[in-house]
Amino acid sequence: MTTTTREQGTSAVWHDSDHSWELRDLPLPEMEPDAVQIRVRATSVCGSDLHIWRGDGVPKDAPPRDPFVFGHEMMGEVAKLGSKVTTDSLRRPLKEGDRVAYSYFFPCAKCYNCIRGEFGACKFRMGRKPLDEYPYCNGGFAQYYYLRAPQYLFKLPDDISDAAAAPINCALAQVYEALHLGGVKLGDNIVVQGAGGLGVNACAVAAELGANKVIVIDGQKPRLDLAMQCGATHTIDINEYSTPEARIDRVMELTDSIGADKVLEVVGFPAVVEEGVKMCRMRGTYLEVGHISPNSIAHLDVQKLVQNQVRFYGIQHYDPWIIPNAIDFLVRTRDKYPLTNVISHEYPLDKIGDAFDTAEWVGRNAGSEVTRAVVTP
Ligand SMILES: [Zn+2]
Ligand SMILES: [Zn+2]
Repeated sequence: MTTTTREQGTSAVWHDSDHSWELRDLPLPEMEPDAVQIRVRATSVCGSDLHIWRGDGVPKDAPPRDPFVFGHEMMGEVAKLGSKVTTDSLRRPLKEGDRVAYSYFFPCAKCYNCIRGEFGACKFRMGRKPLDEYPYCNGGFAQYYYLRAPQYLFKLPDDISDAAAAPINCALAQVYEALHLGGVKLGDNIVVQGAGGLGVNACAVAAELGANKVIVIDGQKPRLDLAMQCGATHTIDINEYSTPEARIDRVMELTDSIGADKVLEVVGFPAVVEEGVKMCRMRGTYLEVGHISPNSIAHLDVQKLVQNQVRFYGIQHYDPWIIPNAIDFLVRTRDKYPLTNVISHEYPLDKIGDAFDTAEWVGRNAGSEVTRAVVTP
C-alpha cells in the first residue's frame, strides 16, 4: 500500500522515551466498503489513559514502548462512509456529518465467543498496532478514527453535546455493563469505589436501577459532591475515613452490619480491592472494572472470599446494545442528574499535554474541581 497520495490526519503521538507528545500526520486508510471514517469531535481523558500515560504496571527497567496513539473515550461525526454503509447499527439512515457514538473495539464476529453473541469477550478484538501498520492511527487523540467492520455505531440526538457524548462509550457504557452483569436489583445497597467519570456515572445508573443506598468513596470533595447530585445517597471521604478499616466500618454502619449487595471498583489501584471485597455482604458481588494496568497484584484472603461466598467479576468491554441504551439513558435522565458536568475542562489537540497534566494534577490533589478533561481535535 502506498501512502504518498493518501489523505492524512493529525494524531497526538505519545513518546515514552522522553515523556513527550508529538503531533504527527498519519495516513488515513483507503476506505473499505463496510468501514466508516470518523472525524473525531471529542475524546476525554479516562483514568485508564492516565494509567497508560504513566506506564503503570510497566517494569521500571523495561525499554520504552514504541511511540503510540491512544484515547478511547470518544465520539465524532461521519467523515466518509464506505460504499456499502447506508445506516447506523439500528438501521437508521446515516450520512456524512451525522454525529455518532461507537465502541472503541471491534469484535471479529467469527470466533468461539463471538458466535455466542459475546462480542465484548472477543479475544481477537482490535488492539493497538504500530503506527506504520494499517490502520495507522487507532486512538481517539487524533483528528480521525477509522471504524472497520464489524463496527457498531449509533446516531446521537442533537441535544447531547459533543463533550457529554464522549464518555458514553467508556465511563457510562462500562459501568452500565458492570451493574447489568452484577444483576443489580431494586433495593440493593451499592458501594462505588471512586468518584471519577466511571464512578459518577455508576451512581446515576445504580440509582435508576432502583438501588436503596448508593455509597460512593473518594478523596476529592468536588467529585463526591457531583456524585451526590448524580444519584449517590452517602459519601465516604477518605480524608475523613483514612484507613481501610474505618471505611469498611462505615459501610457496615450504613448497611446495618450486613455489608453491600454490590461493590463496584472503578479506582484502578490494587490496594482498594481487599477493602472493597470486605465491604460485600455475605454472598455479595464484587464488580472489578478499574484495573487495566499490567501487574496489578492485589492482596486477598481467598478463604474469606469462599467463607463469605463473594461473587467476584472481572469486567471489561460490553456488547453493542449497551451504547444505544446508554444514549437513551443520558437523554431520559438529563434533567435529573448533571452527568454532563463530569466534563469540566476542554483542550484543543495541540494542548493535549495540558489536558493530561491537569487530569494528573487532579489525581494527586484533593480539592480540585476537575472530573474529566476532554480533547477536541
Ligand atoms: Zn470474535
Ligand atoms: Zn475508559
